[in-house]
This record gives sequence, structure tokens and C-alpha cells, in this order.
Amino acid sequence: MVNLGKKHICTNKDCGIKFYDLGKKEAICPRCHKEVIEEEEKQIIEKKIRSIIVEEEEKALEEEVSEEISEEEEEKDLLEEEYIEEDLTDFESMDYEEE
Ligand SMILES: [Zn+2]
Repeated sequence: MVNLGKKHICTNKDCGIKFYDLGKKEAICPRCHKEVIEEEEKQIIEKKIRSIIVEEEEKALEEEVSEEISEEEEEKDLLEEEYIEEDLTDFESMDYEEE
């Protein structure tokens, strides 16, 4: 069985490939031969995760906004109807008081 070791991501901005350290202590990128420092690697992974989360949040937000618009439109219709009714009752009662 081949031991691939830990999975790493190259911290070189121009490279950024994913690779395995083959169980070696130092993780050296097979493409650009940059030694991957675990702290830098963690930051890069966190950034990637964050950008994925942001993308998903933005998508969710877009969906929410379109839902909110349709709900608001329904509410507006209801409010307008209620307003008209209230307006009429007010007018009637005012008229009554005057008499
Ligand atoms: Zn690299």
C-alpha cells in the first residue's frame, strides 16, 4: 500500500496545487518545490473555506431577497385592502357624528 501521507495545499500564490507529502516531515510542493509551512497552509485553507462560505451566504441571501419581495407584495395588497376598509369606517363614523 502506498502511503500518500498528509494532504497539503501549496502556499505559493502562483501555484496553489494540492499534493500529498508522502509521509515526509517536510511538505514540499512537487510543482514549484516550495516548502509548505503549516501555519501558512492553515491560513490559505481558512481563506478558501471563508470564500466558499461567503459565496454560499450570498446565494442564500439572493434567494431570501426574492422570497422577501414576493412576501412584501402580498402584504402590501393586504394592507391596502385593510386601509380602504378602515378609511370607509372612519368616514362613516365622522359622518354620523356630524349628524
Ligand atoms: Zn507549488
